[in-house]
Amino acid sequence: MSQFKDSFIANTAAVRVRFGAGVRRMLGEEIESLGATRALIVTTAPQAAMAEEFAALCGSAAVGTFTEASMHTPVDISERATAYAKKIGCDVLVAVGGGSTTGLAKAIALRTDLPQIVIPTTYAGSEATAILGQTKNDLKTTVSSPKVQPEVILYDAELITTLPISMTITSALNAMAHAAEGLYARDSSPISTLLAIEGLRAFRDALPKVKVTPNDIEARGETLYGAWLCGTVLGQVGMALHHKLCHTLGGSFNLPHAETHAIILPHAIAYNRQAVPELLVPISELFGDSNPGMALYRFAAQMGAPLALRDLGLEEVMLDKAADLAMANPYWNPRPLERKAIRDLLQAAFVGDAPDL
Ligand code: NAD
Repeated sequence: MSQFKDSFIANTAAVRVRFGAGVRRMLGEEIESLGATRALIVTTAPQAAMAEEFAALCGSAAVGTFTEASMHTPVDISERATAYAKKIGCDVLVAVGGGSTTGLAKAIALRTDLPQIVIPTTYAGSEATAILGQTKNDLKTTVSSPKVQPEVILYDAELITTLPISMTITSALNAMAHAAEGLYARDSSPISTLLAIEGLRAFRDALPKVKVTPNDIEARGETLYGAWLCGTVLGQVGMALHHKLCHTLGGSFNLPHAETHAIILPHAIAYNRQAVPELLVPISELFGDSNPGMALYRFAAQMGAPLALRDLGLEEVMLDKAADLAMANPYWNPRPLERKAIRDLLQAAFVGDAPDL
């Protein structure tokens, strides 16, 4: 199927990607290539032991660690981390972890313009974007700036083998959501579409293998490759209803990020199929169901992903408010947002039904 369009704009970031099992050991070389000599290593508290491992990989270039990265990048933590980065006089940030860790490195970079080397340990895809989501007083806002775009990404499949299998599945579906929405983005280009299709294919082929054998390095590598492609799509084009619903549910009801993405995806795709059926054909072809929403629902179910928002702690009485919030300040979406249809979508996602076709 041709992805040719007779008119488009393509924005691609200048990012150096180094990919391969064990590639984290090249960290010292990458720091040197940036002309840096003083690295601050950033991660979460549960991954603090990794900060020490990475400090050792940096050798004499390691000048500090900060292990308080937290979901949704709270501004008070970012400000403390920035003050620490300034105090120790670091000249490069090394982020080792998932989207929360990358978010903290980006938040420091926003305030200091320091270069970033990101070593992802989930599939969230934040490392490939110039977008930073941060929270203050329970309000999540998003900024886009070239300052937050990481300069170097090291994708090392060995690091992802420790990701528990339930998180592996939901994080993969989180990444796939970037690609799925990228297919109908109004600013899509042939490049973003090719990346999206290949990213979805990589997860389709490799995720079932990872589920059976979590430390299969080759399959883990292919999923990580998928995460890079899907994250790159997120960095290139605008997202729509699916991401709006997930941000609403995460921001206002404190639902966990990757799990929420995993549950909403089939429903959002089914909703938008009415408007852009031809743009979603690649999903049908890849996952073997004429209905792309159903195709993703079946894949998620086969992978053992959570299917019902009620299992994440959401209460049914909150669905009306969630629908109202989704209607407020909507993102661009290929199908106009209809309050009743959005409420029905949320109901199906709440109980875990297949998407309404
Ligand atoms: P996360 O980074 O919060 O990680 C979840 C937990 O898993 C953490 O405790 C972490 O320490 C642990 N963990 C991570 N990798 C592990 C591994 N390999 N082994 C064992 N434990 C591991 O979760 P996430 O889903 O990667 O990121 C979610 C955050 O990223 C959200 O705040 C979201 O908004 C943000 N995000 C931002 C963008 C963007 O472009 N700005 C894109 C995607 C996600």
